[in-house]
Amino acid sequence: MDIPKKMKAAVLYDFNDVRIVERDVPEPGPEEVLVRVEACGICGTDIKVVTQGMPKMPPMGDFIIGHEYSGVVVKTGETVDEFKEGDRVAVEVHKGCGRCRNCLLGDYTACLNYGDLSKGHRANGLSCNGGFAQYAVNHVTTLYHLPDNISFDESTIITTAGTSIFGIDKVGGYIVGDTVLVIGPGPIGLMTVQIAKALGAETVILSGTRDSRLELGKRLGADYTINVKNEDVKERVMEITGGLGADLVLEGSGGDAALQQSLECCRKGGKICILAFYKHPITADISIAVKNGMNIYTVRGEGNLSVGRALSLMAQGKITGKPLHTHSFPLDQLNSGFKTFVERIGGAMKVVIHPQE
Ligand SMILES: [Zn+2]
Ligand SMILES: [Zn+2]
Repeated sequence: MDIPKKMKAAVLYDFNDVRIVERDVPEPGPEEVLVRVEACGICGTDIKVVTQGMPKMPPMGDFIIGHEYSGVVVKTGETVDEFKEGDRVAVEVHKGCGRCRNCLLGDYTACLNYGDLSKGHRANGLSCNGGFAQYAVNHVTTLYHLPDNISFDESTIITTAGTSIFGIDKVGGYIVGDTVLVIGPGPIGLMTVQIAKALGAETVILSGTRDSRLELGKRLGADYTINVKNEDVKERVMEITGGLGADLVLEGSGGDAALQQSLECCRKGGKICILAFYKHPITADISIAVKNGMNIYTVRGEGNLSVGRALSLMAQGKITGKPLHTHSFPLDQLNSGFKTFVERIGGAMKVVIHPQE
């Protein structure tokens, strides 16, 4: 394949200072693949990276951001036979070091060597270079073959969907016939609604503050929606569940009141899984969980090969990312993309960057 020597890439120079500059196209190492990036989604975590940073980031001026991308394999490292030139691929963020206790047990998103490139860990676009660029190198373990019926744009939501699946794994995985409350109708909540339905949840309730997003949640399978601005979420959940509460609460909002709501809406002995990051420390009455034998779980991102399983659900037509994708920009306009995403201009939800345009 024809690979240029130089490429355009979005580099973080300082907080709130992202520049589109020319960089060398990277060379894949022995276990790596060079991907021509066709689409890279903007995620709330990117905004965190740009505005306040994340632990173990590469130095300012060197760091190519972006972690939810997909593209075409254009070159493979010498040991790679899992992929070949021309393959369409979706990307997962985390590659564990493969040598720490957690990685050996399969929990690679909780790698004990997070950010230590010398030990083999990498989190694309977080602790090493990522996908707001025309080309990106990826370790083979962070790539999945992209089924023909899934577009590059749609596949950028797959890490988000994988996070929901990983959360459901963590709580035990079996939700057939359950009542599930999903808090927050953003990308993760809307994927979670669909996944809960695909896995056989009987009743899915979605709560949030924006009617347009709640409406979309209903179209994507939510049986009930609750706008917490004008309804009491606990009251409504108890009404829907005959006073029992939800068997499982999946918290995807990261809102200040969300953990307290989760506790109040959970069934005695039920489970709560937190899928979101919070902007700052929050408070909640944890005694509610203790007194009622509830269990609280968390996940960091998309472990357990859940990205591949999310792709399978998408290829089967059981979940879709299409209605979430509202805006696209070329790489040169990445900063406009960020603004559109943050300010939710034009109802923006999933904003996708096209580095080849
Ligand atoms: Zn993300
Ligand atoms: Zn590790």
